[in-house]
Amino acid sequence: MKAELLFLGTGGSSGVPMIGCLCDVCQSSSSLNKRLRSSVLLRWRDRQVLIDAGPDLREQALRHRINRLDAVILTHAHFDHIGGLDDLRVYYLIEGKPLACLVSKETYLEIKNRSSYLLEPKQLGKSLPAQLDFMILERDFGDVFFQGLQWHFVSYIQGGQKVLGFRVGNLAYISDIREYSMRVIEEIKGIKTLVVSALRENPSQMHFSIKEAIEFSRAVGAERTWFTHMSHEVNHEVISHVLPSNISLAYDGLTIDFDLGSKDVFS
Ligand SMILES: [Zn+2]
Ligand SMILES: [Zn+2]
Repeated sequence: MKAELLFLGTGGSSGVPMIGCLCDVCQSSSSLNKRLRSSVLLRWRDRQVLIDAGPDLREQALRHRINRLDAVILTHAHFDHIGGLDDLRVYYLIEGKPLACLVSKETYLEIKNRSSYLLEPKQLGKSLPAQLDFMILERDFGDVFFQGLQWHFVSYIQGGQKVLGFRVGNLAYISDIREYSMRVIEEIKGIKTLVVSALRENPSQMHFSIKEAIEFSRAVGAERTWFTHMSHEVNHEVISHVLPSNISLAYDGLTIDFDLGSKDVFS
């Protein structure tokens, strides 16, 4: 079954342009150098599932007319991935039911700590928070049946925080990766399409550099790789020219096709 992935944002945590920055990329007129915070929308049949709800969610939803959602998956609880959670309440109002939300236990607890009102049931007469119907993953690796699909999840660590990556059909989405076990590679080995974060050319404590992301892609043996979560140090045109032929920089608004297979689908 055919599916598509729409890049709603391909930027790092500050977005590009970055506030107050006068560098060439931030001043660039190219749309390829304008990056909202990283997030993707997966579409198949009549389903639409969002991965991450960052602080640019409202703009992304308006830009791409995302007028309804079936579910949201949160990779982890850093602000650039959950800063738009409140804006999800419009989907509750549209659908009239809580929005399914897949998270790790760690992310769930973080949200509970920071925004406990999001977890409270609807209270008439009070302001309405996003109504989320959480499905919580307790383990680090495994499979979960969600939205009619089999999702294989892996986990790794970024700045001390657990992050989830996913393989669904012949696509793997691995964002905000820094420290990881070989098991991550083994479990997505030979994937056809890999989306992976690559912050910039210089090394970072929190993310793969471009070089490290290339090495990761090779270790996985991905047929085709797209980089996302890029900072203002990545000039699209310049870096695109030095990448291997099967690796490209994603950009906001890019859509790529992938396949969900047939045996993965239960409804
Ligand atoms: Zn991030
Ligand atoms: Zn800049």
